[in-house]
This record gives sequence, C-alpha cells and structure tokens, in this order.
Amino acid sequence: MNNLVNYPVMAVDDIIRPTQLQIDLRLLKENYLKIKSHVFPAKVMPILKANAYGHGLVKVGQLMEELKADYIGVAVLEEGILLRESGVTIPILVLGGIWGNQIPVFIKYDLAMTASSIEKLKQIDEISIELKKKAKVHLKIDTGMERIGVHYYSADKLLEESLKYKNILVEGIYTHLANSENSDLSYTRLQFDRFNEVLRFYEKHSIEAPIRHISNSGAICQMPEANLDMVRPGIMLYGVYPSYEMIKPIQVLPALQWKSLVVYFKVIKPNHPVGYGSKWVSDHNIRAVTIPVGYGDGYLRSMTGSAEVIIRNKRYPVIGSISMDQIVVNIEQDSAFNGDEVILIGKADQSEIKVEDLANWAGTIPYEILTNINTRVPRIYIE
Ligand SMILES: *Cc1c(COP(=O)(O)O)cnc(C)c1O
Repeated sequence: MNNLVNYPVMAVDDIIRPTQLQIDLRLLKENYLKIKSHVFPAKVMPILKANAYGHGLVKVGQLMEELKADYIGVAVLEEGILLRESGVTIPILVLGGIWGNQIPVFIKYDLAMTASSIEKLKQIDEISIELKKKAKVHLKIDTGMERIGVHYYSADKLLEESLKYKNILVEGIYTHLANSENSDLSYTRLQFDRFNEVLRFYEKHSIEAPIRHISNSGAICQMPEANLDMVRPGIMLYGVYPSYEMIKPIQVLPALQWKSLVVYFKVIKPNHPVGYGSKWVSDHNIRAVTIPVGYGDGYLRSMTGSAEVIIRNKRYPVIGSISMDQIVVNIEQDSAFNGDEVILIGKADQSEIKVEDLANWAGTIPYEILTNINTRVPRIYIE
C-alpha cells in the first residue's frame, strides 16, 4: 500500500479487493445475546474455531471480550494464543487434543486444556509443578463419537485420578454430540444419558461437579434439558442453523455477507464455450459478466453447474466451470455494468442467497462453506 500513498485520488476503498466479506458485528452481538438469554442461567461458551467460522478470530474474540462472555472455545492451541495476543483475557478452552510439547505453552498463555487420559493428567501435573503455575483442564468424555475422550463406560478412573493433582484445576467436564441437529433425537438422548451416568460420580462422592457442558447449536435448539451448566454454540452464533429439519426456537440472523463487483461485460456468441473444459455453451447470443472470485477464495468449484449470484435484485446462474479466481455469470438479455454489486451470500431487496444454498449446490454442509472462505478475501466489519 505504501507506494500508493502519494496517489491523490486513491481512497482506501479502491485499494481493497472488490471481493469482500462484510461482517455485521451488531448482528453477531444480537445473536449472542439471544442465545444467552434463551439458555439462562446456563453459561455460554461461544465457539470461535476455524477463524470464527470464517468471520475473523480476532474481531469476534474481541467482541466476546467486550461482552464479557463466560468462556471462549477454539479448536487448536494457535487460535488460543492469537486471542491472548489480541488482548482477550476471558477464559479460553482448546477443544482439540494436546500434542507433543504443547503443555508448557498452554500454561504460559493460561489456556484450558482438554484432558482425556490419566497419562495426560500426569504430564500436565509434572509440567505445571515445574512452571510453578496452575494448569486448567476440562475432562473430555466420549459418549458416542469415538474421537478424543475417555469412553463413558470407563470414565470413573479418570475422574477419580483428576482429584489427586493439586496443581491442576479441573474447571470443567464435557462431551460432544454426534447428531443433535437431526429431527430424530434418540442418539442424542442416549449420549446425554451416558454423560449423566458419568456425572453421578460426583454425586456418589458428594463432590461438587466442575462446569458440565454438552450442548452445541443443535442441542441448544432442540434439547433444552441438556443445557446443564454451560452451552457451546458455534454456527448459530453466526446466524446459521446446522440443518433445515431442526426446531428453531431462537431467531438468529446471518452476520456475514459475501459481495463482489462486476468487473467485465461481454456478449458471448452461440457455440463459443465458457471456462475450463469448454463444457458450457449457449445456442444463442447472451450477455455475460465476469466476477473476480473463485475457488481460490473458497467459492467451491463443486458448485459448478448450480451456483447463482444476485445482481440488481435478480438471481443469475454462474456458467462454465468455477475457476480459481474468476466466475462468469449469464445475465441473458438484461443489463449490468462494471462496478455493479454482486451478492454471493446475502440479501438484496427482493432476493436472498443463504449459506445453506451454497452448501446445497456444493453437496456439503453450511459449516464447510463458511470455514472455506479464506484469508484472501478481505473482511470488512460493520460495528
Ligand atoms: C465445533 C464444536 C461446537 C460447536 O458446534 P456447532 O454445531 O457449530 O454449534 C461445540 N463443541 C465442540 C466440542 C465443537 O468441536
């Protein structure tokens, strides 16, 4: 940007790529507050993994700090470090496993660890003694996912062991649900029952349980009895529901819009194929515009043949294969001009394209659409 400083008419807006994400922090805040009041008195741990589902880890983290959220959840150590280095002081839990020599780093940055074996607890204890600083952990129980976590049927030993270490503060105990967004909740109930069975350990020994948490977005909406002490909303915080079929008692709104501009206009003659592979051809003259976005930004190539965009309040199909940096849109006999706004995800007066639409076109889930929008796309925040 430095070489442009002396150029008199160049405003910052002109330098930024026309393809951008507009993220409304006011809506994110509203979504958070709606979830919080819906689950009250349970605490809330907003989940900010994978760059806050594409919305920008630092900005969303700072918003949660401002809102004094009870906790933040991220997936990997580096996400926790970045939050701490951006001035976030509220408690942070890293949901993924601990690997190699990460334990001292967790302790140094005051990040809570997910512990799911006795060996890990021992290791954490030894290192925290060396560092003369208490370590924080949440115990992870596997109630039906078969990923990290000690099996529910052999959890007692881990819970017992966790009481022994004076240098470890066991702040929480949790499990994760595999099917909570389905309309059939029988497996979710089974997982909840298994978790409750594990938690009876504390009752049996008359010990106060640490913070108990199980619910992701699906369960927050569909199984309020599972709120327990804290809930972990991810995708809902961003205004997107995990599935179409589920009950939606909380009205959240999408916080993100993905926009671009028309950068080129041309007329395409019959039998002149569009894009790589030359698979799309017209049998009549059409008007087409080029938009500077592609799979290199996370506009997935698998949406080829189904994707649509909004220009001047109307939906138009993307034609030809989606390439790395550009797409071509067929506007038939309509008009569009260079500089016209293009909505890839978002709302116009009479039309809307949702994250869920892109997920359907790509044959995937909304989560993957959001987390694939990469850092080449500048984020613009509305505060
Ligand atoms: C991602 C994640 C969540 C949030 O899930 P959503 O479906 O996005 O609400 C909650 N808990 C854990 C352990 C997770 O990994």
